[in-house]
Amino acid sequence: MLKRVVIIGAGPSGVLLAHYLLRRDADYYVEVYERRSDPRTLPFSQSRTFPIALNERGIKALSKLDGMLADVKAVSLEGIGSLIHLENGKTLLFPRRKPLLFLNRTQLVITLLKTLTAQYSSDRLNIHFDHQCKGVDFETKTVSLEKTAGNCTVEVNVDYDLLIGADGARSRVREQFLSTNDFELEQRYTPSAYKSIFLPSESGTSLKSGYIHNWRASNGMLAVLVHDINGLLVGVVNFPRKDNTIANLSTKEEVLQFFCYYFPEIAQLLPESEAEAFLNRPISNVLRIRCNPYHHGESVLLIGDAAHATSHSLGQGCNASFEDVAFFDELLDEYSDNIAEAIAQFTLRRKPDAHALVELSDYTFPLSNKLLFFESFIRKRTAEFLHQRFPKYFSPSLLQLLVETTIPYSKILNSHKGWISKVKQANEKFLQTQK
Ligand SMILES: Cc1cc2nc3c(=O)[nH]c(=O)nc-3n(C[C@H](O)[C@H](O)[C@H](O)COP(=O)(O)OP(=O)(O)OC[C@H]3O[C@@H](n4cnc5c(N)ncnc54)[C@H](O)[C@@H]3O)c2cc1C
Repeated sequence: MLKRVVIIGAGPSGVLLAHYLLRRDADYYVEVYERRSDPRTLPFSQSRTFPIALNERGIKALSKLDGMLADVKAVSLEGIGSLIHLENGKTLLFPRRKPLLFLNRTQLVITLLKTLTAQYSSDRLNIHFDHQCKGVDFETKTVSLEKTAGNCTVEVNVDYDLLIGADGARSRVREQFLSTNDFELEQRYTPSAYKSIFLPSESGTSLKSGYIHNWRASNGMLAVLVHDINGLLVGVVNFPRKDNTIANLSTKEEVLQFFCYYFPEIAQLLPESEAEAFLNRPISNVLRIRCNPYHHGESVLLIGDAAHATSHSLGQGCNASFEDVAFFDELLDEYSDNIAEAIAQFTLRRKPDAHALVELSDYTFPLSNKLLFFESFIRKRTAEFLHQRFPKYFSPSLLQLLVETTIPYSKILNSHKGWISKVKQANEKFLQTQK
C-alpha cells in the first residue's frame, strides 16, 4: 500500500531522508515542506549559511546512495587538517589521517535537492517551499501549514501516514510532542552564540586552503574560517552569549577595531564591505536539545537537530543527522518497512548515542585556553603518537574516534568519561568567572 510520508524541513536531514525513502521502492510517496524559499533560486548573499565539515559518519551515509558522494565532493574542498593561530603569529598544525569534506550548508542542501528532483518526478515527490508548519493533529494525522506567496498567506492542511520532524533545533513538530504524555525535553542555549563571516576569495590567499583556521582570544571568543571550493572564506565568530562586545558594535569602524583588537590576522583580510555586512548580520544563539522519545504513536518521528541539536564545537550535528537517516533506513530493512516498529526501535536504539553526542559536544573542548593548550592538545598528540606506533595497545585520540571512525558516540563517551567530567567541571568554573 502507498505510504504517504510528509517531511517537515528541507535541511540536510530532511532532504537526505527523502532520497533514502524514495530509493526503497515505489510504495513511498514523499512530500517535503520547508518554511524558507528555495535555496536554488536565492542569491548566496541571502542564505544564512556557515561552513560544514563532513567526516567519516556523514560520508558513509552519503556513499550508500548511488553517485551522491561524488556529487557532494564536486562542491567540496578536501579538509586535511586544522591550524590553530596563536597570538604570537605561530601556528599549531593538526593534520588529519582521513580528509574531511568542507562545504557550506547552502551548497550541501542545494546539491541534495538537485539530485533528488533530477531523479524523481511529481508522482513520487513534491517539495513545497515557503510553507511553515504551524501545528500537527496526531489524532487525525494532519499537519497545518501556512503558505506564503508575496504578501499573502494561506492555510494548508495535509494528511500523512508517516510524519517526519526534520525541522531543526526549534522544531514545531517536536513542540507538539509536549502535549503528549511521557515526553521528556531538556533544552537550553549553549554558552556560546555566533555571527557568520564571509571573506572574498582574494582576501584569503595568505591562509592555506584545506585547513580549518582557528583563532582563540583570551576572553573565550573563537573565530573559525574555512575556504570553500570557490576560494571564499566562510566562517563564524563564536563568543560567550553573555558577552555584549559584538552586540554593542554600532559602526563598521567599530567592527574593524574589534577585529584589530581580538583577531588582527582576520582584520588584515577584512574589506570594509564585509565589516558593514558583519555589523548587520544577526547574532545566532545555539540550542542544545535532549529529548525522549523520538517517535510518537505509530506514525511520527523526529530526526536530526529536531531530535538532538548540539553545540557546533565538534562539527558533528550534520554528520550525526546523516547517521540518523542511514540508521532509520537499516531499521526499515530489518522490520520489512513496518513503520510502527521501525520508529519505536529508532528511539530505543538511537537515543543512547544521540544523548552521548550532546554530552561530547559540550565537554570535549575546554573553554579555558589553559586547559585546552596545556592538557587537551597534549593528550591528543600523545594519543595519536602512541596509536600510530602501537595500534594494538593504544586507542586513537578522542577527536580521531569522533571524526575518523563510526564507532557509536555512547561507546566513545564511555571510554572518555574521565576527561569529559574534568572539562565539565572546568567549564562550569570558567563560566562562573564570566558572570
Ligand atoms: C555555525 C555552525 C557550524 C556547524 N558546523 C558543522 C560541521 O562542521 N559539521 C557538522 O556535522 N555539523 C555542523 N553544524 C550543525 C549542522 O548544521 C546541523 O546539525 C544540521 O544542519 C542539522 O540538519 P537538520 O536538517 O536536522 O536541521 P536544519 O539544518 O536546522 O534544517 C531544518 C530545516 O527545517 C526548516 N524548518 C524549521 N522550522 C520549520 C517549520 N515550522 N516549517 C517548515 N520548515 C521548517 C528550516 O528552515 C531548515 O531548512 C554546524 C552548525 C552551526 C550553527
